[in-house]
Amino acid sequence: MTKQGTLGVAVIGTGRMGADHVRRITDVTSGARVAAVVDIDAERANHLAGRIDGCTAYSDPAAAMTAPEVDAVLIASPGPAHEAALLRAFEHDLPVLCEKPLTPDATSALRVMEAEQKLGHRRVSVGFMRRYDAEYLKLKALLDGGRFGRTLMLHCRHRNVSTPPGFTNQMTINDSVVHEIDTTRWLLDQEITAVTVLRPTPSTAAPEALSDPQLVLFETSGGAVVDVEIFVNCGFGYQVQCEAVGESGSARIGDGHHMVTNSAGRWGGEIDQDFVSRFADAYDREVQRWVDATRRGETEGPSVWDGYAAAAVCEAGVRAQTTGERTATTLVERPALYR
Ligand code: NAD
Repeated sequence: MTKQGTLGVAVIGTGRMGADHVRRITDVTSGARVAAVVDIDAERANHLAGRIDGCTAYSDPAAAMTAPEVDAVLIASPGPAHEAALLRAFEHDLPVLCEKPLTPDATSALRVMEAEQKLGHRRVSVGFMRRYDAEYLKLKALLDGGRFGRTLMLHCRHRNVSTPPGFTNQMTINDSVVHEIDTTRWLLDQEITAVTVLRPTPSTAAPEALSDPQLVLFETSGGAVVDVEIFVNCGFGYQVQCEAVGESGSARIGDGHHMVTNSAGRWGGEIDQDFVSRFADAYDREVQRWVDATRRGETEGPSVWDGYAAAAVCEAGVRAQTTGERTATTLVERPALYR
């Protein structure tokens, strides 16, 4: 580590998320600096590096990881590129914050899990940022406190304004519902054992061949049932809501009542339009917590096991979506490193 223990971070992938993390580490996070940016689009990396003191641009992640000023890696390239970058980071025993998904499927996630076990210690935090959102943290604390008894059900809504061209049914599970998969496992401290997907007649606003909305049902190892409305072309805003129903009470987050206005006989407020604004604080907290833990020589947050479990449930979800049948999930036994 350089100057008074400042963590030198290499950010791999400088698209929408990566560029935002570069801005965050430079302007918001304390105790870290962007020492390197990496993108297969060399022009993009050069452009970004040119605006940051002491930052070098690379087009090959492996080269950045051997640079002496790089102490840790933030992976924000597309999911299919994550495995290679993770395995390379393990070779140098570098701490990693890896944007979700860990990898795009359970088989490759297992390979990463095996490699991390060979290292003998956890090195990876997976970027499931909802775990750092203030409202989710409050809900988690409430459920863990047991005030409402056992949690029986979660009712979740996940709505996006619209999807980019080429967005597929599989992506509604792998890119969108994956967040509810992680929050369900985390909030309830249980695994998801089965997935069912119901597809109502699509909205007229749905792009051709996209089932939108869908209702995704999870069953969990503790006997809870979770429903997720996923509606990715709702047109009106980005909404993520979750109501937990316990034996003697319920709690709901995500209503987004930042400011309520009253005018001309009506009251109202604003709805976030995307995840960047809705979860801005969560991303800030996620990166700060990762930097703080890394500087202490520790690894915390969602683990490679969480990334693997999410990938396995996504696979069951995509099968359920295709067949229309309730689909059981299969997980390997949880290794000691992740217990
Ligand atoms: P993007 O397409 O905007 O950017 C990806 C960048 O990576 C591009 O600049 C591309 O040139 C570069 N790249 C591609 N292959 C590379 C490689 N092998 N090495 C280095 N750079 C490479 O994508 P994005 O929307 O920024 O998504 C990046 C990651 O962040 C994905 O894993 C995505 O799932 C995740 N993501 C997470 C959230 C969240 O809420 N946590 C939201 C959006 C995206």
